[in-house]
Amino acid sequence: ADIALHEASRSTAHVVAWTEQLQTLTAEALGLQAELRRAIEEDELVLHYQPQVDLTTGATVGVEALVRWQHPQRGLLPPAAFLDAVEQSGTIGPFTSWVLRRAVRDCAAWRERGVDWQVSVNVSMRNLVGPALAEEVAALLAQHGVPADRLTLEITETALPADQGLLASAVAALAQLGVEMSIDDFGTGFTTFAQLRSLPVCEIKIDRSFVSGALADSEDRAIITSVVALARGLGRRVLAEGVETPDVDEWLRDIGCDRGQGYRWSKPVPWTELLDEPARQG
Ligand code: C2E
Ligand code: CA
Ligand code: CA
Ligand code: CA
Repeated sequence: ADIALHEASRSTAHVVAWTEQLQTLTAEALGLQAELRRAIEEDELVLHYQPQVDLTTGATVGVEALVRWQHPQRGLLPPAAFLDAVEQSGTIGPFTSWVLRRAVRDCAAWRERGVDWQVSVNVSMRNLVGPALAEEVAALLAQHGVPADRLTLEITETALPADQGLLASAVAALAQLGVEMSIDDFGTGFTTFAQLRSLPVCEIKIDRSFVSGALADSEDRAIITSVVALARGLGRRVLAEGVETPDVDEWLRDIGCDRGQGYRWSKPVPWTELLDEPARQG
């Protein structure tokens, strides 16, 4: 009986500890949710842009929008510091709406200066299967006079939803608008060949974990070469991210990769900084 009592109080202690932990987590998530709402209202989020380069011409043909949070106390925060909490706290809808609005507005601003870059925006699977992303995007493009094919939506394949029907119809609605779709971080998630074949996706982005050290690793090179061949065989564009050096750039061009992105050209910066170097304008 003693042992049973001991066990019971131990498990009660566990439950108490677990409940407290849960409360802290919830409080943190709620705190962040409120802070983030404020951040959007106070305009504390910023978009930095990283060039996407045509490997045959060396010209910038697009830029990827990468979010940062200019936090009043904590400084410039990378997405890794807050994106998980955004997804978990259920605010990814308004968050992505803010990113899309700002990116399309910025795209209109560089177009006004005669610069014809595409803009790539990261969207979460939750955004895709949520309500009416296509309608929101169509309204934004119309409002700013940006052609649909100037916008690319990058979908990370790590979180493909169970409902393939929902995903397919969301992607189809966006493709119908003329917006381009890209599969991000390809090779690290769960995209199947069946999905690659059936989804109207324009571009495959090879994850930087295969690319950065490719010249020193024959397995990475074998994977990249195969993905490039696969993309070309399917008539899709292929972009390698995480290109850090000229020799990787050159090798990718030799094997027929279409585009590259990485520190070899620029870190993500405010878009106006990318205008300073005329060689980068596509
Ligand atoms: P991602 O979409 O794979 O973006 C590429 C990340 O690699 C960026 O990190 C970029 O700064 C970094 N990077 C670019 N070139 C190089 C390189 O040559 N070498 C190395 N080592 N790294 C490079 P960042 O900006 O910290 O973004 C991290 C992730 O956060 C992104 O990964 C994306 O998944 C997510 N993210 C960023 N902005 C948004 C957004 O607006 N919405 C959503 N849903 N996710 C976003
Ligand atoms: Ca991306
Ligand atoms: Ca990526
Ligand atoms: Ca990546």
